[in-house]
Amino acid sequence: MSVDLTNQRARLCAVIAEPTVESARAALNRAAAVADLAELRLDSLVDVDFASLDWLGRLLEGRQIPAIITCRSVEEGGLNQVEDPRRIRLLVEGAKRWADYCDIEARHYQLAAALRPEPSKLILSHHDFGGAPANPSELYGAITQFPAAVHKVSFLARSITDSLAAFDLLERARDKGRQLIAVAMGSAGVITRILGPAWGSFLTYGSLEAGRESAPGQLTCRELKDSYRVHSITRETSIAGVIGNPVMHSASPAMHNAAFAALGIDWAYLPFEVDDLGAFFDALVYPASRRLDWNLRGMSVTIPHKTAVVPLMDEVSDSARAMGAVNTVVVDGSRLEGHNTDMAGAMVPLDRLIDLTGRTCAVLGAGGAARAVIAGLLERGAVVEVYARDVSKAFALRDLFGIEANRLSDFESSSSQVVINATPVGMRGHESGSPVPATALRDRSLVYELVYNPIETELLRDARRMGCRALSGIEMLVAQAALQFKLWTGLDAPIEVMQDAAQKWISEESKSAST
Ligand code: NAP
Repeated sequence: MSVDLTNQRARLCAVIAEPTVESARAALNRAAAVADLAELRLDSLVDVDFASLDWLGRLLEGRQIPAIITCRSVEEGGLNQVEDPRRIRLLVEGAKRWADYCDIEARHYQLAAALRPEPSKLILSHHDFGGAPANPSELYGAITQFPAAVHKVSFLARSITDSLAAFDLLERARDKGRQLIAVAMGSAGVITRILGPAWGSFLTYGSLEAGRESAPGQLTCRELKDSYRVHSITRETSIAGVIGNPVMHSASPAMHNAAFAALGIDWAYLPFEVDDLGAFFDALVYPASRRLDWNLRGMSVTIPHKTAVVPLMDEVSDSARAMGAVNTVVVDGSRLEGHNTDMAGAMVPLDRLIDLTGRTCAVLGAGGAARAVIAGLLERGAVVEVYARDVSKAFALRDLFGIEANRLSDFESSSSQVVINATPVGMRGHESGSPVPATALRDRSLVYELVYNPIETELLRDARRMGCRALSGIEMLVAQAALQFKLWTGLDAPIEVMQDAAQKWISEESKSAST
């Protein structure tokens, strides 16, 4: 097969690491539906004789997309110990006879050169699982001293700012008119996988299925193609994203990217795993100091950065100031505006259902979400009481808002008509169960759950059994995101699209968590 990939803007490469020739062939066929090319990790095969080559012809015969073959040594993450001369011969001869490219470690170039590889089919790579290159310029010189069709650098990003080295290498390659693949592995490096092609990376890798990643931080081809839309991202694309830690389990990319696609606007929303907020703002956010020339327009902020981000803003909205927390950043030219859509977002579904004036409402938990909900309830004239396991935190909210404060264990004696769970109890990955006993919900009119993953929690099931109306946390999730969308784009968010995307994302998450 000979396919000209040179004029394609972004190339999505499915990585296939299967144990048998037949399963690899089947995966190669499946890959054609989601990827532009595939990389076959031959070191994962257990049913072949690495001394012969014929099985490779069988594997690659009749493929619908171009194929890269590689066979990593165990030291470079390979699964099967194949001696270097045998491995390199397999790759060089395999590419001459069947494959479109072979990927060989640059440190074995001499071994490969002796076999006279086809230059237009050679990818020379450098992998570093230890961290980012201290000197990208030196590394670039070292790997490009050997001729190849494409060079590749893949390293582990220990922090999101390490990703800058990958963009730096891509800029160098572009200036020299060379083809390069640059990937920062790990969840902190995910931006290089999504934006890499727009910065000229020859390809970006994805896994064929969730849970089958061949490198840390790898997304699925479906996510890269359909959610992040890597084929249409350019350097002009408006970029938004969520700052958090951890952040890879956020539903926000699915919601916002679906909304951008539905409105046909040139925006992309990325996960930003940030450990050091100040370093991230200096290197990637502040227009005056950032080292990535990108069209960053906005950010969502989630745990643990909502409070720490406040002093980094040029301007803070009244609601954000009142809550001491920013969950939305608007990048307006050189200025950063901080907003908080949690309070308004929490109130949207409640306002649709009941008039809160004069209602007694019990809020469970005394963290950030509780604070946003309490502020919204008071604004509507509700009578609020807070219940927390650490009563000193409830007292702090009592002093701030002038409300009643109690121990969570005393909730049963509350006569509140509306109950709002602002604890993470019942959330996937946290304590299971419900924050209060089912019997304590009897005769309440409405139970509002802020946990959204899973959509159906034990608290909501108990509430329905006890005859209460039940409101799921997905409503707030979508409402606060829709307000962020409007702040960044100035457009009304397609609410149903966001709701569907969030629901789909949550159900896929729960499937992959249970497999
Ligand atoms: P947070 O700031 O960490 O506050 C959590 C509160 O829950 C704290 O008062 C904490 O008490 C309490 N808590 C934790 N574990 C508990 C347990 N096992 N039993 C009783 N109380 C417990 O978190 P947050 O940002 O407020 O978020 C709280 C929940 O709301 C999370 O599940 C989050 O996903 C959800 N949320 C949903 C949305 C949405 O859009 N639907 C938006 C924001 C938040 P301690 O201080 O004693 O640990």
